[in-house]
Amino acid sequence: MTVELVCGGCQCGRVRYSVRVDSFDAYLCHCRMCQRATGGVSIAFTNVKQADVSWSHEPDWFRSSPIAERPFCASCGTPLGFRYREGSDKMDLTVGSFDDPARFVPKSHFGTESLHDAWLDTRDLPRQRSDEYPALVERWTKAKRGG
Ligand SMILES: [Zn+2]
Ligand SMILES: [Zn+2]
Repeated sequence: MTVELVCGGCQCGRVRYSVRVDSFDAYLCHCRMCQRATGGVSIAFTNVKQADVSWSHEPDWFRSSPIAERPFCASCGTPLGFRYREGSDKMDLTVGSFDDPARFVPKSHFGTESLHDAWLDTRDLPRQRSDEYPALVERWTKAKRGG
């Protein structure tokens, strides 16, 4: 593919970025550091050149270890990525923070020493859409009415 400009940001909208990508390849990191940093059983990342990322509002940075730091939004808490503190011109961005995460395709697993096998293939579990869950729909309806 050719180079494309794609955008993303945090949940509250304070931190926004655009990044030039030449691939929609992504991977899941299962390492304990990522599990702790995101609260998830794994985190989907795509690897980009730092120089290709443009922040419309600088993220906050958490030094998660002596070798790494992670951009996030201090207002809403959204984890936005990962980078080594030195020695690399690349960084990761969280797939879920992109405006259109569906474009990314998982290509590999990393940090598999702490991979939770039970969460890996969940395709046969029962499924329910959030807009078909009456209790949630009712809450949204009330919220939109302002009551
Ligand atoms: Zn935010
Ligand atoms: Zn990790």
